[in-house]
Amino acid sequence: MNELRPVPKPKKSDRIKARHERKASDPNRSSAITESAKGETCTICGICDETIVWCHLPLRCAGFGGIGLKVPDILGYYGCFKCHTNEPNTGWMELLIGFARSVIKLVEEGIIEVKK
Ligand SMILES: [Zn+2]
Repeated sequence: MNELRPVPKPKKSDRIKARHERKASDPNRSSAITESAKGETCTICGICDETIVWCHLPLRCAGFGGIGLKVPDILGYYGCFKCHTNEPNTGWMELLIGFARSVIKLVEEGIIEVKK
């Protein structure tokens, strides 16, 4: 009879290393995009403060992302805390404008490249 033995839990440092390796190889993740939010202006309301982060668009319902999966990093905008938390009450046109302004900034700053 086979004896069931508990599987040893990997060390925390090994789990963190594995997570970084997964992120680095995932084409939908870009720390260059998410980290570029520091010092940016909110592309929804125009405020510039320390709360600006890269906000992922709420597109899980449209099949981008899913349970345990974030929407790809490119599908987002620079947003302040107030706009990010108010996102469920924000119209799609406002979010689209924020996305468009953010993508233009990413191109202007060379974070994403449009091939000629
Ligand atoms: Zn804002």
